[in-house]
Amino acid sequence: MMPGQIAKFGNSAAQFLLGGLAALRTFGSGAKHKPAIGDAWRQDNTDQNSTNRDSINKDGIDLRDAVKQWREVFEHNPVMYFMVDPAGTVLNVNTFGAAQLGYTAAELTGQSVLNVFFEEDHDLVRRCVALCLETVDQSHTWEIRKIRKDGSVLWVRENAKAMLRGDGTPVVLVACENITQRREAEDGLRQSEAYLAQAQELSRTGSFGLSPATGEIVWSRETFRIFQCDPAVKPTLGFVFQRIHPEDRDAVGKTLERASREAEDFDHQYRLLMPDGSLKYLHSVARAVRHASGRIEFVGAVTDVTIAKEAEQRLRRSEAYLAEAQRLSHTSSWAWDVRRQEFAYRSAELYRLFGFDPDQVDLSARAFQQRIPSEDFGRVVDVERRAIQQKQPFEIDFRIVRPDGSIRRVHTEGHPVIGGDGDVMEIIGTHVDVTEQFAAKEALQKAFDELKQSEQRFRDYAETASDWFWETGPDHRITHISEHADTATAVPTGLIGLTRWDIPPDAELEPEKWEQHRAAIEAHLPFRDLVYRSRDRNGSPIYVRTSGKPFHDANGNFLGYRGVSTDVTAAVRAEQTEEALRKAQAELAHVTRVTMLGELTASIAHEINQPLAAVISNADACIGWLDREPAELGAARRSVEWIVEDANRASEVIRRIRALAKKTEIEMVPLDINQVVRETVTLVRRELATHAVSVRMELASSLPRVCGDRIQLQQVLINLAMNGIEAMQANIDRPRELSIRSSQVGDDGHGRLLLTVTDCGVGLGNDATERIFTPFFTTKSGGLGMGLSICRSIIEAHAGRLSAFPNEGSGATFQITLPLPHEDMS
Ligand code: ADP
Repeated sequence: MMPGQIAKFGNSAAQFLLGGLAALRTFGSGAKHKPAIGDAWRQDNTDQNSTNRDSINKDGIDLRDAVKQWREVFEHNPVMYFMVDPAGTVLNVNTFGAAQLGYTAAELTGQSVLNVFFEEDHDLVRRCVALCLETVDQSHTWEIRKIRKDGSVLWVRENAKAMLRGDGTPVVLVACENITQRREAEDGLRQSEAYLAQAQELSRTGSFGLSPATGEIVWSRETFRIFQCDPAVKPTLGFVFQRIHPEDRDAVGKTLERASREAEDFDHQYRLLMPDGSLKYLHSVARAVRHASGRIEFVGAVTDVTIAKEAEQRLRRSEAYLAEAQRLSHTSSWAWDVRRQEFAYRSAELYRLFGFDPDQVDLSARAFQQRIPSEDFGRVVDVERRAIQQKQPFEIDFRIVRPDGSIRRVHTEGHPVIGGDGDVMEIIGTHVDVTEQFAAKEALQKAFDELKQSEQRFRDYAETASDWFWETGPDHRITHISEHADTATAVPTGLIGLTRWDIPPDAELEPEKWEQHRAAIEAHLPFRDLVYRSRDRNGSPIYVRTSGKPFHDANGNFLGYRGVSTDVTAAVRAEQTEEALRKAQAELAHVTRVTMLGELTASIAHEINQPLAAVISNADACIGWLDREPAELGAARRSVEWIVEDANRASEVIRRIRALAKKTEIEMVPLDINQVVRETVTLVRRELATHAVSVRMELASSLPRVCGDRIQLQQVLINLAMNGIEAMQANIDRPRELSIRSSQVGDDGHGRLLLTVTDCGVGLGNDATERIFTPFFTTKSGGLGMGLSICRSIIEAHAGRLSAFPNEGSGATFQITLPLPHEDMS
């Protein structure tokens, strides 16, 4: 019972006292004096000095005896008795009671009873006394602390009752029982229960009792909390199973079933699926207790291990992440126990790095060290020793030779861990596999070296080449021009900041060229072989040929052009000279042609006279036919037709001669070479006839067309034919025959056309075959010696060749080779 709680409560000692007092009263009620308790005490107290004779009678003797007896009981009963007046003053106390509090009875008597109570309990005491006074003759019980004289606490259960004295004034009688021991035991129990509850809460461990036979379950407060069950509700196995995660119910059921059957302890883990959908991980341990009746009961503890479990899962996950990160980054971690000279920890990646299986956990450090080449290992040991001495972190690179001979390059970093004694006890560190980086670095270095070399090479080229490199900006102004070691090179100077069209002194002379060029570079198009005039570093005019291409930044923005320029002055001059020569040759060819025509005058006149004579005779005939009566119109018509034919023939000859005589530009067109041959022969027919030379033409049929200038090729053929005729002048006994042959040689891709003019004249000496092509070489008295030279240049202008060979018999053969165009051009 808690202090302050007042209850009607039977107590043997208090009952005894109160019973005794009641008896006293009953006893006293028949006497003359109705002695109240107070009187009895007073009498008791004054007993030895009193000589009250009135009380010495039989009744008196009995009364005295009774009082004495009661006094004995009162004094020596191991119950504390107090008699208190309404003001709380102690009227009487028994020796035992006073002694219990460390006082003598006299010390307490007359004092306020409150003196033996704790100040904070005074109100309670007053209330209790007031209650007793209000309910006279009713007994009340409460438990309360008292203070001993020495200050220690005395727990008592007080049984009190107010009674009316003879004079009608009330007095409160109190019997106290020392309950200190029980209270202390109770407090201890309560405290240990509180401790237990707190411990259970803190450790998230609840306790339980389970009777498999009846299914009865007893839970501690924490177990209720774990299962989220209202403590007012009696837990059942059904409820427990409802809370257990569906996947774990079967296993839990089996565990309980086996434990109940075998009456054995169990230890299992399972999950709860809470109403909010969250999971709880529980670890439950239970003892099987067999009662005398043979009934089995389990007493156990259930711990909420969710936090640990989640932490474990998180740890496992982060370990997995770490392992994965190590695998991906080729990083392994380790801890080296300096004293034991052995690994304290090594990650799975370390095994893989050294070419071991991560399951080979019992490998010694030596096994790892043996895979480091000895010269590297020596360095590692030195660096480590120094780091331990200086207690400083270190870094070092070394190699690992794996059993398959492959070499891994490792970068390691170590950090010393200082122990309690101030010495390095451990080194923790990482190994990073830098093999690929190392290879990449080497390759990069090599590429860089090569690049440097090639850059140097190109610089050398640039400096020594006659070409120079330039760069222009987005506005096309020159920003760079390569340096030249060769001071003789005509690289222009002072051009930085100029545009290309600012340079030529004659830009305005070729506006179209520059317009085209500017349009191309404004469109950021590459350009090739632009030739323009410039001045070299000495101010002399030069021709420059340049090509360039645009360049951009990484985002595709146009930055300018880069390109190369060449001094092409020599080439341009050569071209100009060649052009002049070509012109001169054409002039000469014309002159010789006209000369030749002069030589051919007789033949030509004949060629024209012949059809003209025919025209005249046919006209005469026509007149004759018309003059007839009736006119022979059919015959006249035929005559006119012949006239037209002959007139056409004559006009055709005249047309050709005019063409030969005319100074025309070279006109390269597809030609039927046989046709050219036939026309030529027509022109020299008279010459042939006059010199009694017969012509043999062996012209191959279906020859592809060649690209050429009809007049020039006719000129060549006339020239060769005329030379042949002349060479055969001396043939007195032998026939004079000029053969002209055409044929095709070679395959389709590289086919050539062959044209030969063969005579059987005086022929050529072996040494003359080339000489005769030399300008002004002639063996003829009136010869100019230019014919063959012009013929050769004409044929070469047609990309062909003209050569002379002595015949096996007599005479000479002149051979013209002309390239055949590709099929699609023919
Ligand atoms: P030209 O006829 O004015 O001499 P060409 O250049 O035509 O000039 O000929 C050069 C020389 O080549 C001739 O003078 C002659 O000696 C020689 N020649 C040319 N054609 C023949 C030929 N068919 N047979 C022998 N010699 C020839």
